[in-house]
Amino acid sequence: MEETVDKAFLRQRILAAAAALAMLFGAVWFAGAMAPETEAVTLLCETSCLVIDPGHGGLDGGAIAYNGVKESDLNLDIGMKLRDLAAFYGVETRMTRQDDTARTTAEDYSEHEDLEYRAKLAGETDNAVLISIHQNTFPTSQPSGAQVLYGPDSESRKLGELTHRNLIQALQPENRRVAAPAPKELYLTAHAGCPVILVECGFLSNLSDLQLLCDAQYQRSLAVVLLASYLQYGAETIL
Ligand SMILES: [Zn+2]
Repeated sequence: MEETVDKAFLRQRILAAAAALAMLFGAVWFAGAMAPETEAVTLLCETSCLVIDPGHGGLDGGAIAYNGVKESDLNLDIGMKLRDLAAFYGVETRMTRQDDTARTTAEDYSEHEDLEYRAKLAGETDNAVLISIHQNTFPTSQPSGAQVLYGPDSESRKLGELTHRNLIQALQPENRRVAAPAPKELYLTAHAGCPVILVECGFLSNLSDLQLLCDAQYQRSLAVVLLASYLQYGAETIL
């Protein structure tokens, strides 16, 4: 009985931390004075690990913008900001890559093997929750906005819908896209074996999206929303 009360209390505190994060957005996100709800987050860390996958890398640049900006670089920028923010909050993380040279620069590089490695890393991590970071592109410049794709199970869907909703509320109120199941042929979401979402943060083929995605402040805001969503999901699900 008492344990139930404690869990409800902790859940509330984690949600409060997530709400505080969502409001921070910016210059103060790293301020030491803001360190939140450490005990509650510690408990979440003991039961879950956030696996961050900055999509592509090395030989595989992913989508390329008209001005040469590579999707792989933006994915890494956002992924590293998410990692740093998570560390600040005491959230345990693992990265599938932390630079532009790991694995994918090997001469015998194969995209399939690289994706297998990433899925295996998530699969081997106890109680992993996987967030894969990508950017979209389209042959014309009109489409814009973020979209979250989720893995085949109900937990992934829950995390995906929650994250998509948070992204829109916080950053893109005019965005009319909806969270959607990831196509079956997407290897990582199909094979991660844990709650998994693939976040398409925006379109490199859209000028205003591209400008935002290259902006360090906007990247930080994306990281804040992703971490807040992870905490919210953990509070609602894991505890
Ligand atoms: Zn991609």
